[in-house]
Amino acid sequence: MVTALALIVIGIDNPDDKNVIYGLIAVSGILGILLVLPIGGADMPVVVSLLNSLSGIAAAFTGFIINNSVLIVAGSLVGASGLILTFIMCKAMNRTLPDVLFKAFGGSGEKESLTRTKVGSDADEVAMMLDGAQKVIIVPGYGMAVSQCQHQVKEFADLIANKYDTEVSYAIHPVAGRMPGHMNVLLAEANVPYEQLIEMDEINSEFPDCDVALVIGANDTTNPAARSGEGPLAGMPIIDADQARTVVIVKRSLSVGYAGVDNDLFYMDKTMMMFGDGKKMMTELNNAIKDA
Ligand code: NDP
Repeated sequence: MVTALALIVIGIDNPDDKNVIYGLIAVSGILGILLVLPIGGADMPVVVSLLNSLSGIAAAFTGFIINNSVLIVAGSLVGASGLILTFIMCKAMNRTLPDVLFKAFGGSGEKESLTRTKVGSDADEVAMMLDGAQKVIIVPGYGMAVSQCQHQVKEFADLIANKYDTEVSYAIHPVAGRMPGHMNVLLAEANVPYEQLIEMDEINSEFPDCDVALVIGANDTTNPAARSGEGPLAGMPIIDADQARTVVIVKRSLSVGYAGVDNDLFYMDKTMMMFGDGKKMMTELNNAIKDA
């Protein structure tokens, strides 16, 4: 950072020296990589939105240099909205911006190795357990986006609502997926009614009255380790899926999520694991419910 600042000062005194500009580009590139590299776990969404905001500010400055007011206005809008989003994300993740940017410095970034095992359940078992469930909360995560199973998820919600008169809602964590609003966009694409999408803070109190929490490809955002105050997820608020009477988790294995932390939720007695690709498992589950 000091070298970059020095090169800026030198560049002002020697505006014709292109080597200073090339040097500044190289040093800035290295600075960017080194700043972001140690940040991981639950902090990455904040960094993503901060970088978005900075791209807008860069565009606005370019607008000043080439005298283009459209760039200035558009860049300022991107910069300002990105900054607002950054602070919303910080608040949702229970972190401050300096902590996100500098606390992970020197962190190991290693993923936990898994030693525990869990027997999987099949679609028929889960369909049988769902018979008579009065309240089901669906918890979508990154795996739903990867397998693109949002349409099967909507079909599942319609099936149980029609067949068992079940009340269905969706618990949306602010950083589920890999970009802000990821789950909302996917579920809206599948025509899930907007009023069924409920933000984490609002829906968490409903889990103790919930018969089944169906977790589809979510991991870190449901990991009770976040409550422990240690590790990369420490302090991140989570969806309280573990409070539901029964938990069903759809994912391919017991492997860790983005933050690399093993999830105790998988090993609880009340948890049924449906191992497989999200789309395949949701299709099987829907067929099993239709046949039940
Ligand atoms: P996670 O990344 O914690 O976990 C996703 C899980 O999906 C994995 O454990 C994986 O398990 C499973 N999965 C992957 N592919 C499939 C598939 N085809 N079918 C079924 N399951 C699949 O997801 P969450 O949404 O819970 O958490 C998001 C994480 O990403 C947080 O740590 C957040 O901080 C971070 N992040 C969020 C950003 C944002 O803006 N929203 C930006 C950057 C990072 P398996 O391999 O066993 O299938």
